[in-house]
Amino acid sequence: MTQSGSTAAKPTVLIVDDDGVNRTLLAELLHEECRVVLAKDGSSAIGRAQAEAEIDLILLDISMPDMDGYEVLKRLRWIPATKRTPVIFISAAIEAESEERGLQLGAVDYVHKPIRPVIVRARVRNHLELVTHRKELERLADRDGLTGIANRRRFDEAYDLAWRRASRIGQPLNIAMIDVDHFKRYNDLYGHVAGDEALREIAQVIDRYATGTWDIAARYGGEEFVLLLSGEVAFGAILSRLHGDVASLRLTFDHSGGDDVLLATVSCGGVTAITRTIASPSALLREADALLYQAKREGRNRVLVRGDTAAVDAGSAV
Ligand SMILES: [Mg+2]
Repeated sequence: MTQSGSTAAKPTVLIVDDDGVNRTLLAELLHEECRVVLAKDGSSAIGRAQAEAEIDLILLDISMPDMDGYEVLKRLRWIPATKRTPVIFISAAIEAESEERGLQLGAVDYVHKPIRPVIVRARVRNHLELVTHRKELERLADRDGLTGIANRRRFDEAYDLAWRRASRIGQPLNIAMIDVDHFKRYNDLYGHVAGDEALREIAQVIDRYATGTWDIAARYGGEEFVLLLSGEVAFGAILSRLHGDVASLRLTFDHSGGDDVLLATVSCGGVTAITRTIASPSALLREADALLYQAKREGRNRVLVRGDTAAVDAGSAV
């Protein structure tokens, strides 16, 4: 595999050690290649992890007062930023038993005190390289190859998480199925290269509406997209704006084979719901899909939204 770009941000490494001399030594060893986050005990390590979006590698001392490294590792597994972060245990304990225990808990490696700089640096570098490759694979696995936005696999994961969270806190979910109108005709008229380009542009428009942590826009398949927004939002108004934004791209095509050139448009079916009133995530998706189908039947180029209020027809004016 090739080296990743040198412009990439430095990986973040969390160093947890109650010994200040060790902390300083490790930080100095790694600070050129990594962004170093330091913690002097288990509870500050947990606090640090909670404040970070992502931690790439953890160097964790085993012997610490209050909470030992094993316990810290268990707790870090509950925090999103460190849920799957590889851990290298650092310890003076050279007994095979403690090493075994660390590896069983999921540590990827073990280094012994006193710290030998060359060894620590080499091991950290090796593990960070694996992290970089894993992240790249995950990124590729999550993306739709054509449009660059999330793919269906990623959407299913995000939807599951958003559903569970919404159920827990009693907030509504808003979900829309969005389909490009007459897409086959567009492809037939302009060819697949132009069709693909149109899908890319429309995908970018839809993706701009997924701004929150628990929001996602994804290509659902073919010329169909899905938009999930969490919480209380004016979903009908948002979808109307999105519908207008797509028209504003002015992707035109000859609708009738004559002179009258039409804009490429989308149809949307959107539902706002409190999860406890819906049988399952797939039932909510089916509702949105049924509304999309209805929008198509009623002439396409329109938004149909159902929520706790009455259905809103955002109209078909372009
Ligand atoms: Mg210690």
